[in-house]
Amino acid sequence: MTLEFALTRSDRPAADDVRASVLAEPGFGRHFTDHMVSIDWTLDGGWHDARVEPYGPLQMDPASAVLHYGQEIFEGMKAYRRADGSVWTFRPDQNAQRMQRSAERLALPQLPEEDFVEAVRQLVAIDEAWVPTGGEDSLYLRPFMIANEVFLGVRAAQTVRFMVIASPAGPYFPGGVKPVSIWLSREYNRAGRGGTGAAKCGGNYAASLLPTQQAVQHGCAQVLFLNEEGTDLEELGGMNVVLVKADGTLVTPASESILDGVTRNSLLQLAADAGHEVEQRTVTLAEWRDGVADGSITEAFACGTAAVLTPIAALKSHDEVIGDEHAPAGPVATALRKQLTDIQYGRVEDPHGWMVQLTEAQASGAESAEAR
Ligand SMILES: *Cc1c(COP(=O)(O)O)cnc(C)c1O
Repeated sequence: MTLEFALTRSDRPAADDVRASVLAEPGFGRHFTDHMVSIDWTLDGGWHDARVEPYGPLQMDPASAVLHYGQEIFEGMKAYRRADGSVWTFRPDQNAQRMQRSAERLALPQLPEEDFVEAVRQLVAIDEAWVPTGGEDSLYLRPFMIANEVFLGVRAAQTVRFMVIASPAGPYFPGGVKPVSIWLSREYNRAGRGGTGAAKCGGNYAASLLPTQQAVQHGCAQVLFLNEEGTDLEELGGMNVVLVKADGTLVTPASESILDGVTRNSLLQLAADAGHEVEQRTVTLAEWRDGVADGSITEAFACGTAAVLTPIAALKSHDEVIGDEHAPAGPVATALRKQLTDIQYGRVEDPHGWMVQLTEAQASGAESAEAR
C-alpha cells in the first residue's frame, strides 16, 4: 500500500524576485526551496504521516539518537529542466534501492521504492518554480533518514524520520570542465572490510573530512582512499574513480567497501554501448603508476551526481606524482560526460529509459498565445 501525502502550503514562499536572484547564481547547497517532505516511522506503526509542508527548522530533542550515534543515511539526486519546461529526474529507482541497502546496514527501516519516488515527485511538483533553466543547472534533491527516537541507549532507534529537501544548484564547473589533482591518503582509510563503506551514511563523510583537509593543504581538490593494505584503489571521499587505458578499456575498482555510484554505473553502460571494454575488478595503485609511466593508461576521472564527471589530471602523494597536473581533459572522459548530461537534459535520446518525468512541459508565452 502506497502512502498518501498531506499537503500544507507555505504561507510565506520566497518572493518571485528573491527566488529569481537565487536561481541566477544558485551555487551549491546554500539555498532551499519553500517546502520539504517528511514521513515518520515507528516500530509499531511502520511508515505513516507522509506530508509536504513548509521548509523550516526541525524541533528536535537533544537526546535524539542521531545526534549521538550517527544513525543516518542519505541520497543525492537531481531534477533537470528541459528546453520545453518539463522537469525530469535520473534513475530514481536506483537511489531508492540504494537507500534501502544503506538502511539495512545502518539498522534503519526500508522505505518502499514507490514511496521514495513519490516523495521526490511531490516536492518537485510543488517547488517546480525552483528548478533552474540554465545550461548545467539543476535542482539538487537530498532525501535522508534520521533516527529521532529520544533515547540514549545503544540500539537501533524505534522512531525514525525520512525527509526530502531540495536546493537549486549551479554548474559544478562554472568556467568549463577543469581537470583536478587529487591527494592520495596514506594515513587514513575510508572504509574497512565489513564496515559501512558501501552505505551512503553521514559517518563516512565525517571520517573523510580530515583527510580532505589534508588534500586541500596539498593543493588538491579531493582525496583518494586505498584499501586497508594500501595496495588497491577504493574511491574518493564522495566520488567513484575510473581509469581509461590506451586501448579504450575502462577500469574501475570492484570492492565491497565502496559506494556503488549510479553515475559510475551509467557511464560504464554508455561506454560499453559505445564499444569500450569495461572491467570492474581489483585495481592496484601500481597499475595506475606503471600504466601512466608506460603510456598504457591515458585518462582518469572521478564521477558522482554532483559533478557528473571530473577528469583527474594527477594523483599526488608525499613521495610521488602520477600524471601531469596540467594535463587537459581526455577525449573519453569528455565524450562520456557530454553524453550523460545530454541524456539528463533531454538533448539526445535516452536509450535505456533512465529518465523519469516529474512535471509536464510548459507552453511558452508565444505558444500559449497562439493556442488562444
Ligand atoms: C554518493 C557517493 C558516490 C557517487 O554516487 P552517485 O550515485 O553517482 O551520486 C560515490 N562515492 C561516495 C562515497 C558517495 O557517497
